[in-house]
Amino acid sequence: MFHRSARPALQAPAPEISFELFPPKSDAGLPAFDAAVDALNAFDPAYFSVTYGAGGSTRDRTRACVDRVRARTGRPVAHHLTCVGADRAEIDDMARELWGSGIRRIVALRGDPPDGAPYVPRPDGYAFAADLVDGLLKVADFDLSVSAYPEVHPQAESAQSDLDALKRKFDAGAARAITQYCFDTDTVLRFVDRARAAGIEGTICPGIMPISNFKGMARFSERCGAGVPDWLREMFDGLDETPDVRAMVAASVAVEQSRRLAAEGLTEQHFYTLNSAPLTRAICRALGLRERAAAEAA
Ligand code: FAD
Repeated sequence: MFHRSARPALQAPAPEISFELFPPKSDAGLPAFDAAVDALNAFDPAYFSVTYGAGGSTRDRTRACVDRVRARTGRPVAHHLTCVGADRAEIDDMARELWGSGIRRIVALRGDPPDGAPYVPRPDGYAFAADLVDGLLKVADFDLSVSAYPEVHPQAESAQSDLDALKRKFDAGAARAITQYCFDTDTVLRFVDRARAAGIEGTICPGIMPISNFKGMARFSERCGAGVPDWLREMFDGLDETPDVRAMVAASVAVEQSRRLAAEGLTEQHFYTLNSAPLTRAICRALGLRERAAAEAA
């Protein structure tokens, strides 16, 4: 069912892109952060998003970076927000403050405890992301994104219960789901088909991970339940000392996935930039996107 399109991936429409950033650890990282934002902004993304550290640990820095990117680009910026580490009243207050400052987009998540401990909902908190979506929409009419897991969230009881959880998030009012990155494009497409069959009609926006550091990505993937296929390991095997070659391989992997997803109708795509512009720029260029100045000069 997922091989719907006979169109060659090369003729896929250029995707509508958005870029995820994370707040730098300290002010020393801000010049590089700004440079990345400027380079990425030139591609006219639909929006940026800024992550929230585990357990809410980057609360102030996330907010400062959201303001910074909004001021620098004039674009919508989604503030990631998690249920963990705060009670409902604190989250509602924060949401009111975000709305009052003109922030309209939130990526609403459950989050994880900071120390890797099992997640236990706090009695005075929002238990799951669907509850957070419901609570935030009682505060104001936010544009809310939520997560989705083509390879199933690692703590889900089953693939079906995870899909039910996604449906609850849409039923509560989420505007779109951004997927965890998943290198097996067939798995993403099958997941979208299963979501549609389960009555989920909202936008599913694939998250695409440009691989700037293979080992780091592989370590993170173990924690978040994303698979690292053998073919991908083989592609990067032995390239630790040749970053240029590695970057070219990484770009080709992301471009191929993006084109195939776009050819299958998944034209809204979210790039996990890890605050590094060059690889994402190369990918955007290869997808047929141009920086504004370059396009205007042409
Ligand atoms: P939920 O959708 O609430 O689901 C969590 C788990 O609980 C799933 O296994 C689900 O099946 C299960 N579940 C849901 N509802 C119920 C229920 N009623 N009863 C029993 N089980 C239930 N983390 C951060 O800390 N900061 C970030 O900025 C951040 N950004 C992210 C962005 C994206 C696009 C993605 C995909 C993930 C992001 N994460 C972030 C990671 C996320 O916080 C973790 O994956 C976390 O473990 C789950 O959060 P969730 O919102 O997906 O949870």
